[in-house]
Amino acid sequence: QVLRVALMGLGGYASRVAKAMQSCKRAKITGLISGTPAKLKEWGATYNIPERNRYNYENFDTIKDNPDIDAVYVITPNALHHEHAIRSARAGKHVICEKPMAINAAEGQEMVDACAKAGVKLLVGYRMHFEPNTLEVVRMRQAGELGQIMFFQGLSGFRIGDPNQWRLDKALAGGGALMDIGIYSINGARYMVGEEPVWVTAQETKTDTTKFKEGVDETIQFQLGFPSGAVASCLSTYNMNYLDRFFLNGTKGFAELQPATGYGPTKGRTNKGELSLPHVMHQTLQMDAMAGIILDNDVPTVSVDGQEGLKDLKIIDAIYRACATGTRQHIPA
Ligand code: NAD
Repeated sequence: QVLRVALMGLGGYASRVAKAMQSCKRAKITGLISGTPAKLKEWGATYNIPERNRYNYENFDTIKDNPDIDAVYVITPNALHHEHAIRSARAGKHVICEKPMAINAAEGQEMVDACAKAGVKLLVGYRMHFEPNTLEVVRMRQAGELGQIMFFQGLSGFRIGDPNQWRLDKALAGGGALMDIGIYSINGARYMVGEEPVWVTAQETKTDTTKFKEGVDETIQFQLGFPSGAVASCLSTYNMNYLDRFFLNGTKGFAELQPATGYGPTKGRTNKGELSLPHVMHQTLQMDAMAGIILDNDVPTVSVDGQEGLKDLKIIDAIYRACATGTRQHIPA
C-alpha cells in the first residue's frame, strides 16, 4: 500500500520534497493545494495530477470527499501551519506538517487535539530523524557506547538574504532564526542527548534592527539543562554562514556531525572513526518512513509525531521567555 499525499504550499521546500518523492517506494503525490492557479497547472502537468485533485486555500476542505488522497503535507509559512493542519484534519486526512509545527505551544496543542479528535495522525517534517549517520549516533548513545552523556553543542545558522521574505515577517514566521533554523539545535539536543530538557537560559543579540524587526530574532544563544545533569549549549542565527554542527560528549566517547542538518550528505566522526553511511535524499527516506508510520503504525527510532513537535514548541516558548526576562525558565513537560 502506498501513502497518497497532497502537497500544500508549492514553494521552495515543496519543490525539493516533490523531487525527492519521485524516488519513494511507499509514498506518492496525488494532490496539490496552492493559491496560484499557474502553479497548480504547471505542477499538475509535471507530476501528473488530474484537475479534480488540485485545490486552492478556499476550497481544499472538500478534499474530504476525495478518495485519492490519504494525507496532506503542509509546507506553507510557519504561522499558517495551525489553520492548514486543522482544516486538513477536519477533512479526515492525515497531516504531515513542516517545522516548526506551529508558532507556539498553545497552537501546537490545538493541532494535536484536532488530529486526535478527527482520528488522523499528525507528523512533523523532521527529516533528520531518518538520516542514517544521525541514527548511527543515536544507536551508539542508546547502546551505551558513548557512556554517560554530559554535553551537547548545537550550532545552527545561515545568513539570510532578501529582507522582504516571509521568514523576516513576524506575522508569518512567528519569530526569527530560532523558529526556522535554531529549531534544529533544539530538536537535535533532544535526540542526541536522549532526554527532555527541564530548564533553559537564553541571551539574544541583534546587530541589524532594520532587517530583524521587533519579534524577529537574529541571534540567540541558549543553554538547556537535562534531568541527568547533562547540559546543552546552542547558537541560533540568521547572521552567520557555515554554522551547522552537532557535538555530543559522553564519559566514554564523542560524536560530531558537520554538516549536521543540511540537505546532505552529512559528515561526521566519533571516537571510533568516520561516520560513512551513504547519503540518500532525506525527504525520500522521510516520506517512505512516514508512509510506514501512517499506514502500518511503524514506530520510528526517533519520534516525529505531534507530541514531538509540541515538545520543541514548549522549548521555543521558554527560550523567548528567557530572552525577555533574562532569567532561567522552567520547561513544562
Ligand atoms: P517558500 O516561501 O519557498 O514557500 C512557501 C509557500 O507557501 C509558497 O508557495 C507560498 O506561495 C505559499 N503561501 C501560501 N500562503 C501564503 C501566504 N499567506 N504568504 C506567503 N506565502 C504563502 O518557503 P519554504 O522554504 O518552502 O518554507 C515553507 C515551510 O517549509 C516553512 O514552514 C519552513 O520552515 C519549512 N521548511 C522546512 C525545511 C526542512 O528541511 N524540513 C526546509 C525548508 C523549509
